[in-house]
Amino acid sequence: MSAAAARARPRIALLATGGTIAGAAASSTAGGYQAGVVGAGALLAAVPELAAVADVRPEQLFAIDSKNMTDARMLQLARRAAELLAQDDVDGLVVTHGTDTMEESAYLLHLLLKSGKPVVFTGAMRPGTAISADGPANLYQAVGVAASPAAAGQGVLVVMNGSIWSARDVAKQDAAALQTFGSVYGPLGWVVEGRPRFYRAVSRPHTLQSVFSLEGLGELPPVGIVSTYAGIGPAAYEALAAAGARGIVHAAFGGGTVPDELLPTLRRLRAQGVHIVRASRTGAGPLLRDANADDTAEGWLVADDQSPLKARLLLALGLARTADAAALQAMFDGY
Ligand code: ASP
Repeated sequence: MSAAAARARPRIALLATGGTIAGAAASSTAGGYQAGVVGAGALLAAVPELAAVADVRPEQLFAIDSKNMTDARMLQLARRAAELLAQDDVDGLVVTHGTDTMEESAYLLHLLLKSGKPVVFTGAMRPGTAISADGPANLYQAVGVAASPAAAGQGVLVVMNGSIWSARDVAKQDAAALQTFGSVYGPLGWVVEGRPRFYRAVSRPHTLQSVFSLEGLGELPPVGIVSTYAGIGPAAYEALAAAGARGIVHAAFGGGTVPDELLPTLRRLRAQGVHIVRASRTGAGPLLRDANADDTAEGWLVADDQSPLKARLLLALGLARTADAAALQAMFDGY
């Protein structure tokens, strides 16, 4: 490569956090493996083709299985991402992350980062030691997207298996398949020959248009989720409140219903100041305010179309700004 060509390559920061993309097994056919044991430099070295795409600068932030992601670590990731994106010599950011909690970290950064530069999360479903490991191709595609001006201003993206998803509505939907990520709204586009082809954009605010930011944000207020099942009782709600939760996402049956047996407990918790958000455990479809529950009378919130996982983070960010139920509902309606 000529010196001029090398200078013209986009400069992409690669923030590695672990996950299966950094996983290794005892053999190429083993089912079990250890996530997060391969360093950022080695991930990069496995894809020499990247040298023609971008000047990629690796940095190891965590080396964890993303089952061990926490609110504190997500905020640490957001803060480091913000620092890198603020640098003049960084044109875009790729975050390698375990797929298990990728949609949560990506969504938090989607709401918090104040940058229009491309930010792309990627990972893998098979460790690098596996036959037909998917990590190298995913990393190649993620860098290709992060290096493209077309990805600027699109919010935080997840690129896996040739698809480009918005952090707003992407969800891990399969425990084993390479095409594990999906969204009820479909992908934003595809990666074709290493470059993004976008067909749509999300209309809800993010990054530069979001009211949320890292400035002045300390810890995230504790918010939990309780998933419903036939015959559920109040114990999990009471336990979360006793542990200090300031909000509880009720991952309700389809249309957001609340079993009669829970009503006294949820009313009591709300009277104590705990916010209750109705979301749907189906992961799709909007919930209507004051339909299937008397939200206005109860002082509860509805999550619109957001999954319980995303509703938890949105409520936490909201609670960091206000405890006013109407203002919190406006956030669910807007984001
Ligand atoms: N347990 C892994 C993780 O989330 C799974 C993966 O990366 O696919 O870190």
